[in-house]
Amino acid sequence: SSIPKIVILGAGYAGILAAQRLQKDLNYNEADVTLVNRHDYHYFTTHLHMPAAGTDKLDNAREQISKLVDEFKIDVVKSNVQEIIPQEKKVILEDGTLSYDHLIICLGGEPETFGIPGMLENAMTIRSINSVRKIRDHIEAQFTAYKVDKKPERLTFVVGGAGFTGIEFIGELADRLQELCRTHGISRSEVKLYNVEAAPTALPGFDPELVEYAMKVLQNKGVTFKIGVAIKECLTDGVIVGENSEKIHANTVVWTGGIRGNRLVEQAGFEAMRGRVKIDEYLRAPGHENVYIIGDSSLMFNEEGRPYPPTAQISMQQGVLCAQNIVAAIRGQQPKKFVFSNKGTVASLGKGEAVGVVGDRKLKGFVAAQLKKVIDIRYLFIIGGVSLVMKKGKFL
Ligand code: NAD
Repeated sequence: SSIPKIVILGAGYAGILAAQRLQKDLNYNEADVTLVNRHDYHYFTTHLHMPAAGTDKLDNAREQISKLVDEFKIDVVKSNVQEIIPQEKKVILEDGTLSYDHLIICLGGEPETFGIPGMLENAMTIRSINSVRKIRDHIEAQFTAYKVDKKPERLTFVVGGAGFTGIEFIGELADRLQELCRTHGISRSEVKLYNVEAAPTALPGFDPELVEYAMKVLQNKGVTFKIGVAIKECLTDGVIVGENSEKIHANTVVWTGGIRGNRLVEQAGFEAMRGRVKIDEYLRAPGHENVYIIGDSSLMFNEEGRPYPPTAQISMQQGVLCAQNIVAAIRGQQPKKFVFSNKGTVASLGKGEAVGVVGDRKLKGFVAAQLKKVIDIRYLFIIGGVSLVMKKGKFL
């Protein structure tokens, strides 16, 4: 048929927002839209640190895609993308091939291990529903096993990296360990919880006053920081850290040392830096007017020439504009330039605590924690309306 084909790869923040905007803006029979995703659910990456630690249910971090998009308007395909061939305007799936006129690549990022020996093999990462389930189950299993064998490494937990992911996760983990100690009749003093960060500070680049506050909150919850200490190797029974190659014996290592772009994007031949492709101001891949790369695999720079960090916030905004630009292209209209609207950053520190910057305001403690809830609920409302808020929103 002569109806243009739009293919969206990935149903993360960027993909869901793009799909919802397309289904809203496109007229009947104006285009065929296909959304490809590995799972039949969308998950909320910003919420994964909670089920990873075990402080919230896994199901509160995901929703069925069929509940989020209108399947009369969007063809949802559950499959793994294996290859993208821009020269042929084709995408190879594990069980078929799709051709497209307009492609949106939003497959998310991947953990970056910087080639640190053993990290890929031995550490766990907060990446998906399945990876998070593994972390939660592993932590619980350590407590059960400790009661039998009393090995101290079972109660030693290492979080590698004190970026936002590491800090948010360790806040939840500290809360959870307290609870696990109680239920298993183990003294909290038997548990060791380390956050190892290579940079001279936790949360590098974040407001120093808030970093100090965050560290104090976490230290009070039992976190031991090792700052300016790099993890050099990850073993099956711990990590090697710092100049003196000290070994921390630990059965649990969660790596939150950073993310990179998706390898499929590099493999498609796009020029990438750590898997991220520098896109134009209309969100298109260089040299391809009909290929948009958005979310964690894209690279854009702000006015000061610094790359925007890969966040849910920017992915959502890119998703909306990308859909609008494709509709414009189909109608022979001009695309719009992407302008990032920074709504601020809030990081949770476990129950009742958070730090954040909104505009030029610094927030901490209860107020920041409340704001974090508002942000989470706002997202649920945007993608799923009141009913999703009622179903997945945490009100307490
Ligand atoms: P990141 O890259 O921001 O942080 C990784 C940290 O690991 C860095 O501080 C780095 O110095 C450290 N590190 C790297 N190698 C190390 C080593 N060998 N040993 C010890 N430490 C090492 O990654 P992230 O925290 O996963 O965040 C990814 C993106 O998502 C960022 O843009 C972040 O801002 C965003 N994010 C935002 C929020 C929020 O707004 N609440 C939450 C999570 C993530």
